[in-house]
Amino acid sequence: MRFGGRLQLNSKKASPSQELTCHSCGGRARWRGRIPDAARFAGRYLDAPLPGGGLYACESCRLNFRFPRLPKQTLDELYVRGAADTWEADDGRRPDWALAREFLMSASVPKTVLDVGCFDGGFLDSLGAGWDRYGIEIHPDAAGRAAQRGVAIVSNDIDELDRLDAEFGVVTALDLIEHVEDPLLVLKQLSRLARRGGLVIVSTGNTEAGSWMLLGSRYYYCAIPEHVSFINPLWCAYAAEKLDLTLVDVAQFSHQAERGLVRRARQAALNMIYAFLPGLMVAARSLGLGGFDARRQRYLRDYPPNWGAARDHLLACFRK
Ligand SMILES: [Zn+2]
Repeated sequence: MRFGGRLQLNSKKASPSQELTCHSCGGRARWRGRIPDAARFAGRYLDAPLPGGGLYACESCRLNFRFPRLPKQTLDELYVRGAADTWEADDGRRPDWALAREFLMSASVPKTVLDVGCFDGGFLDSLGAGWDRYGIEIHPDAAGRAAQRGVAIVSNDIDELDRLDAEFGVVTALDLIEHVEDPLLVLKQLSRLARRGGLVIVSTGNTEAGSWMLLGSRYYYCAIPEHVSFINPLWCAYAAEKLDLTLVDVAQFSHQAERGLVRRARQAALNMIYAFLPGLMVAARSLGLGGFDARRQRYLRDYPPNWGAARDHLLACFRK
């Protein structure tokens, strides 16, 4: 198995004694802990668990990342096999879409927008008339649906960003950069496609969120196997300086803020038990409680409970 970049380990098994060189900036990355193995990828249960590896934090650029990672080819195959309705939940009320729309509407930029990882075009559709809409999407069914909504699909692979010869008033990548090995490289590619004075908007998880700080490498968001890279407001500031962009704003939000109080309290309580009484969680799940049937698949006993109602995401707006 080959792992890209400069990161090479003799052993596939990450352990606390290992220190890595950050593949993005070359700085020193320290171990934050083991990431639980995962049972699902892109909405489908797998025959065998995917190894979680470890979570590392770079002391220079502040990037957090999973290591070891699965090769990109393996990940791409898993994505394409994933359920097409996995990322659906979109009725235009998504908080990241609302935040992104605010930046778009308030900026005086040409009304051309490229959404990288546009899925079925839901965000672009929510902009309403008056925008020329372009998208990049790997999932064929989703890309087809986006096209039906009037989105011009310019590519199905973000590896082709460098080959695109076009400029847009706004380039967005919502819930994308947690999936890529080097977010700085991708932000650079995105900003090349924005015209001078245009906006680049990204949203993703925030490692500095309180809920994440509580659980570290055992936080549900980094245990999702398709997630490999994690940023925070300090990384955004670093990236802006490095790429000669202006960091307009970093807004924080929750993907499930609209969930009822009971559901939010339940998520918080389960995560508190998971954090402070992990033995109790394991015991409950061994009996088939706690959201997973861990009686047959023992590794599920240690899988983190969802905490999507936590305010653990950020949306960063850069101006070129
Ligand atoms: Zn770094």
